[in-house]
Amino acid sequence: MATLEIKNLHARVAEEDGEQILRGVDLEVKSGEIHALMGPNGSGKSTTSKIIAGHPAYEVTDGEILLHLEDDDFGDLEIPDDARTWNLLELEPNERAALGIFLGFQYPAEIEGVTMTNFLRTALNAKIDEREELLFGEDDDEEEEEAGYDTSPMEGNVDDGEVGVAEFQKLLKEKMELLDMDEKFMQRYLNAGFSGGEKKQNEVLQAAILEPSIAVLDEIDSGLDIDRLQDVSKGINALRDEQGTGILQITHYQRILEYVEPDHVHIMLDGKVVKSGDASLASELEDKGYDWVREEVYEAA
Ligand code: ADP
Ligand code: MG
Ligand code: MG
Repeated sequence: MATLEIKNLHARVAEEDGEQILRGVDLEVKSGEIHALMGPNGSGKSTTSKIIAGHPAYEVTDGEILLHLEDDDFGDLEIPDDARTWNLLELEPNERAALGIFLGFQYPAEIEGVTMTNFLRTALNAKIDEREELLFGEDDDEEEEEAGYDTSPMEGNVDDGEVGVAEFQKLLKEKMELLDMDEKFMQRYLNAGFSGGEKKQNEVLQAAILEPSIAVLDEIDSGLDIDRLQDVSKGINALRDEQGTGILQITHYQRILEYVEPDHVHIMLDGKVVKSGDASLASELEDKGYDWVREEVYEAA
């Protein structure tokens, strides 16, 4: 079981006189748990998710983000004792992903002729490769490159321990069944013609393929009609129930939480998590709005 631990996180915009945005965020998300991070517009939810992802626009001024790993996090892969706790802020975005943090779908520019299948297989193999390097300090690719092999993952050649074309097709089919997705999805090119809703479903599919310990999903519910919201929600629940993924679900609205029931709800205000509770806290917000939290917090201060 992995734990993502955010402690007293302070951050500002990485510019001269950049605005202080986060003023002490505390959050702990474990594999298998669903957390909703809610709050009014501008409270710092997306900034928190971008900093977990390693976005260069922000400078962390205090606090830390740790990732604790346990033996069962990477299947049969044994985790060395000195590789159980990671300071995420010292890692590159792809390294964070390799250790099991899913940072939302990164849409590369449209790439003509690259199928979603190829794109996802490349992402999976890159993750496996990077993870081994981080845990064991190995770099097979470099040795192979020196030995004159072509190690480009796009060329379809299979590296040691990497997922080949046939194996990946099987994995993809399994995951699409798990998420109840239409197989014709895969024949589509990367971005071309995906609607907003399909992109969100794709985000969930990518998380299913990469099997992260913790997935951070920022406003995956925005702009979805009710049918698509239900599809996406079903997928998120499957990530948790079937893969044990911990979910940090960032949302302004309570609507998706009717389908993805959170174990914990946190409310952010002015760059801080000011209140945490169970699912009933989200219903309370639905009834009373955010002003009630603001009054409670500032009256107490
Ligand atoms: P939320 O996701 O909760 O709506 P954000 O994290 O996007 O809030 O933004 C929090 C505040 O920080 C907002 O006032 C926003 O304008 C500001 N902010 C976020 N990113 C930047 C940036 N790169 N440059 C300047 N201001 C920013
Ligand atoms: Mg936001
Ligand atoms: Mg490598």
